[in-house]
Amino acid sequence: MLSLDEILNKTIFTKEDLKNLLASEGDDKKRLFERALQVKLEHLDNYVHLRGLIEYSNICTKSCLYCGVRSKNPNFTRYQLSDEEVIECAKLAHDLGYGSVALQSGERSDKAFTDKITHLVKEIKKIDNGSLGITLSLGEQTEDVYKEWFEAGAHRYLLRIEASNEELYYKIHPHDAKHDFKTRLNCIDTLLKLGYQTGTGVMVGLPFQTYDDLADDLLFFRQKDVAMVGMGPFIPHPDTPLWQYRDQIPSAEERMELTLKMIAILRLMMPEINMVAATANQTVDPMGREKAIAVGANVIMPNLTPNEFRENYLIYPDKACVKDKPDQCQTCLDVRLAAIGHRVLYNEWGDSLAFRKKSGVRS
Ligand code: SAM
Ligand code: SF4
Repeated sequence: MLSLDEILNKTIFTKEDLKNLLASEGDDKKRLFERALQVKLEHLDNYVHLRGLIEYSNICTKSCLYCGVRSKNPNFTRYQLSDEEVIECAKLAHDLGYGSVALQSGERSDKAFTDKITHLVKEIKKIDNGSLGITLSLGEQTEDVYKEWFEAGAHRYLLRIEASNEELYYKIHPHDAKHDFKTRLNCIDTLLKLGYQTGTGVMVGLPFQTYDDLADDLLFFRQKDVAMVGMGPFIPHPDTPLWQYRDQIPSAEERMELTLKMIAILRLMMPEINMVAATANQTVDPMGREKAIAVGANVIMPNLTPNEFRENYLIYPDKACVKDKPDQCQTCLDVRLAAIGHRVLYNEWGDSLAFRKKSGVRS
């Protein structure tokens, strides 16, 4: 077996290398994390980009087996923000200097919904002459819908593959036409083809997930040459079918550590992509977001959803920052990031350098 340094000195990792890196502990793990931070600083400096997160609606037509918002969970109130509330959130993002917003929602593909999103994207674009970048995370849609939203002004899209291994995918999703692995793959390919800065990702520490799966996930991101990746620990939700496996998954601490290793390894593999320090990191560990930034992530999505709706967007329990006010959140972020030698890049879209180099998009 190769030593950690022999692996780190390679330019391309094999699947075996990835599995060894995922298993690294002690000094080896520390050196992996240090190298990932060094590579990030060399390529992207110590900047963190912000996307003001707007959780538009928790109405969802799907039933992913891990997600609290799934259509088959009757235990909370469904909501959809009004147009005014969305625009207020976007204006707040602009006033706070965030540079970008991310509009996220449960998945719907009916025309009333897709038309509404087109309208909202156009309205957000009107704020200060298009100064806000727009990321969408609204699930699987047809090519025509993705195109319509792109033409309306959205330029980034997040659609996690959730598990690149088809067999694992069907262990965490119902096996039916609504949750089709090939459709998921096709959607990611369509987004890439249409010219979106496309992001994908996985949850880490899922029931049945192995190092083999995680290594394949990393190879999948590289093979698709995506511009952004978001990875966070899986957090069991009591109102979901995967809750029954909560005793068969790694501890919260182990899921967090594994997430950090995934982020660090991917930073070595794809030095110029954007990587999100997911809120799930902070939910399992109060310092989770900072830890993710310190091993290679460079994007944070502070929540701008009006507080009265946040507790109904509980994709997993005890979600971090549910009670914080946006201005508190900003001060808190500045201080917390400064403490780890990082700073927020305000008033910029903060596009992925990997994507900008490929296409010459504005920064
Ligand atoms: N509905 C859209 C979709 O599925 O792409 C966007 C919203 S969905 C809530 C955003 C992400 O939340 C999913 O891609 C999934 O990875 C993550 N998520 C859902 N349930 C989770 C859980 N129990 N633990 C950690 N992450 C979870
Ligand atoms: Fe709906 Fe997304 Fe949750 Fe799946 S992950 S149930 S599509 S909100």
